[in-house]
Amino acid sequence: MLTAAKEKSIPIRIGVNSGSLEEDILEKHGYPTAEALFESAMRHVGICEEFGFNDVIISVKSTDVRLMIEAYRLVAERTDIPLHLGVTEAGPTKVGTIKSAVGIGTLLAEGIGDTIRVSLTDDPVKEIEVGKEILRSLSLASRNIELIACPTCGRLEVDLFGIMAQLEAKLEGIKKPVKIAVLGCVVNGPGEASEADIGIAAGKGVAILYR
Ligand code: SF4
Repeated sequence: MLTAAKEKSIPIRIGVNSGSLEEDILEKHGYPTAEALFESAMRHVGICEEFGFNDVIISVKSTDVRLMIEAYRLVAERTDIPLHLGVTEAGPTKVGTIKSAVGIGTLLAEGIGDTIRVSLTDDPVKEIEVGKEILRSLSLASRNIELIACPTCGRLEVDLFGIMAQLEAKLEGIKKPVKIAVLGCVVNGPGEASEADIGIAAGKGVAILYR
């Protein structure tokens, strides 16, 4: 397989997973540790090297976010092999999105990682959407519309949830790198609103519009 991939210049991913480590490595380390994931990945890199194949990318995935972060950091520290980031079997949409954002996002923010995969127990289209948002949040992918809204509090004078729902519906399908901020009062709203491309700080019967 390596010979054929080399002939066709096809890269290969060495995908190590904390749930399927080799038995001898597992025995040596006791349980799946970052060092164990690193050792397994390097073993396979070694096999590739024996065949003169260097066009590899490594993943050291785990369902445990802290473990995958630690393992990827080790590989990044000790090699310059490209890395494919992911939290494996991250779970249903809500939990999986958060785990992926924390795991993948932490590493990307440190400059670690070359490709990513978000793995959710949901429609694969959602995985792409979440992946894109992770990249956008770190300015690693071009932005579409970015909506900023306050969490609401006792100062709120308008139906902010309703306004946001209407706005989201109206903006669906629009792909422009525009930052829109909607804030619920004229106390803290103006500062945030004035930094957006279009911002609104709503008050009692009035609103300040920034453009
Ligand atoms: S912007 Fe105003 S309403 Fe919104 S959370 Fe801040 S203080 Fe509360």
